[in-house]
Formats: sequence, structure tokens, C-alpha cells
Amino acid sequence: LIFLGIESSCDDTAAAVVTGDRRILSSVVSSQADLHADFGGVVPEIAARAHAERLDLAVEQALARAGLGLRDLSGIAVTAGPGLIGGVMAGVMCAKGLAAGAGLPLVGVNHLAGHALTPRLTDGVGFPYLMLLVSGGHCQFLRVDGPDDFTRMGGTIDDAPGEAFDKIARLLGLPQPGGPHVEAEARAGDALRFALPRPLLDRPGCDMSFSGLKTAVLRQRDALVAAQGGLHGADRRDLCAGFQAAVADVLAEKTRRALVAAPVPVIAVAGGVAANGAIRAALEQVAARAGARFLAPPLVLCTDNGAMIAWAGIERFRAGHRDGMDLAARPRWPLDRAAAPMLGSGK
Ligand code: ATP
Ligand code: FE
Repeated sequence: LIFLGIESSCDDTAAAVVTGDRRILSSVVSSQADLHADFGGVVPEIAARAHAERLDLAVEQALARAGLGLRDLSGIAVTAGPGLIGGVMAGVMCAKGLAAGAGLPLVGVNHLAGHALTPRLTDGVGFPYLMLLVSGGHCQFLRVDGPDDFTRMGGTIDDAPGEAFDKIARLLGLPQPGGPHVEAEARAGDALRFALPRPLLDRPGCDMSFSGLKTAVLRQRDALVAAQGGLHGADRRDLCAGFQAAVADVLAEKTRRALVAAPVPVIAVAGGVAANGAIRAALEQVAARAGARFLAPPLVLCTDNGAMIAWAGIERFRAGHRDGMDLAARPRWPLDRAAAPMLGSGK
């Protein structure tokens, strides 16, 4: 099997070619970060237009780098949601055109399923396993029992951690996206100087909250500015270290609980926040204590990419799933059908 995967649900235009035996023949990601930089967030109209302009080239490059033509493919997978509707529509239309033109099967993929199935592509992990998806837009625990069988075990009730990292960076005058800058500052900071909350740890279950933590950092910053007329380098480093430690503590404790509720052999992470060394180390420790294997795919496969979509398409295709030309783009598409509408998925 050889699938082309197309992803355009947020601000990355991506295409990749992946085989049924888990080889990534090519993976092209065209970031729109520069287009949205001045606006402090992704602008849906700009994103949709950029996707429409860039998709053809991304697909062309993915096929060229794989050394294949459309006729060599077994099918086309595309993100059909959830995400910014204009971008998702651009991807779905592109995939439909290619599938119809080349007479290939079309498979619509849930973007979150793409993230959640990545450990099977990178490490051949068997079912069941746990997935902690932590990104700029999402934060949730999923128990994965099959290519189409996900159970949401809890998640953020407000901000996603990546979003919180970005807001903290903004508060402290650091560049966007904030995660890597906050981590760099935190490295030389004193995490114990400021008392910051660990929201929702006093409540059972795997739900999380990060907006109160952000407000607490804002208050500490304002108090420092009022007292000193500004922030010193050490203040910034200590606030970053304290914030990061609080996020790591919350994620680690909730991961521990998730592994108690679902004692599976593997816990994997995905999403940009999984790049954070301190958070990774905390999760690794919790997993080791619970006797579970901790898996963090390479960062390029943790963030949005086409390979995870191609792979999820292959998994769905193998399970007998096909879509027709009526495949719809869906702004919302909860993975877990039993779950209430997903919280914390908005930016
Ligand atoms: P989604 O794909 O879920 O809609 P997204 O596209 O914003 O959201 P990703 O690209 O997976 O998410 O991740 C980006 C987020 O990860 C940003 O919020 C960024 O600040 C954060 N991030 C990146 N590196 C780090 C790091 N080292 N520490 C903490 N956060 C980080
Ligand atoms: Fe994503």
C-alpha cells in the first residue's frame, strides 16, 4: 500500500507519501507562521487562501521526493476535520480532484486520529495504548483501542498548554511561538521563587485547567512591575521556570491517574508541547513508575504533518473504510463519539 496524505486544517500546508509497511517516502510541510505573525494568531481567511495556493505544490513535491507518480498510489487520505473550515475544505477539494482524476480511493481522516495513530507509524505500537495530545490547540488523554476506537479520558477545560506557553511569552515580552523561548528562559530560572497553583489536582479524574495558572503569572508580573518599574532578567527566568514546572506537575499527575484508570503498556505523546524537555522528563518518570513505556515520536511527527494523515488513511483503508465524492469538511469532529463536544479545542 502507498498513500498520499494531505493536511491543511490549521496553519501548515502538508503532504506526504507513506507505505503500508511504515516507511515515510516523503513529507513536505509548508508553514504559514510568517503570514500570521503580525496578527498574534492564525487568521482563518488568510490560512484558507494560503492553503488553496500551496496545496498543489506541496503534493507535487511530496510525489517528486518519493519518486512516484499518482498512478503508483493506492489511495489518497485527507484531513476532513476538525479544524479551520476554509483550510479543511481546500484540502478536501484538492484530494477529491486528485482521487477522481486518477481513479484512486479517497479516505477522509480525523486530524486528531492522525496524531493519535502516529506511534503506530513511528514505532509499530500495538493496541491498546494511551495518547496524551498536548499542543497549541489541544490537550487530552485518549485511550486508543483500534484505528477508529478512541476513548477520551479527560482534557483541559479551558486553555491548551501550548496556548498558555504562548500567552506567558507574550506577557513577558518573549517572541512567538512562545514555548521554546519560555523553555530556554526556564533553564536558568528558579522554579520555587514564585508560588504558582497546580489547578484541578485536588479533583479526581484527568481533567486539567491552565488559564488560572496564566492569570497567576500575570499577577506576579504586575506586582513586580509595580514594585520595581519593570522586570529583571532573573524575574523573567524565574516566572518561566515556575510556570513550566507547574504545567509539568499537572501533566505528570494527570498522566499518572490516566495510567491507573487505563493500565496499558505504552503511553505516547504528540503535539508541539511534547518538545519541552522538562515536560518530557516528568512524563517519562511517571510512565517508568507505572511500568509503562514512554514514547515521544520525533518532533516533526508530533506537530502537524501529512505523514500522520497518510498513515491514518492507510489504517482506515485496511479497516475497509472508503469515502465518496460527498466527503464533507467538518469544523468539529469529536474522536470519541460518546464524549460531549470537545472542550479546549478552540484557540
Ligand atoms: P493543533 O495542531 O493542536 O491545532 P498547534 O498547531 O498550535 O495546535 P502544534 O504545532 O502541535 O500545535 O504545537 C505548537 C505549540 O507548541 C505552540 O503553542 C508552542 O508554543 C508549543 N511549543 C513548541 N515548543 C515548545 C516547548 N519547547 N515547550 C513548550 N511548548 C512548546
Ligand atoms: Fe495538530
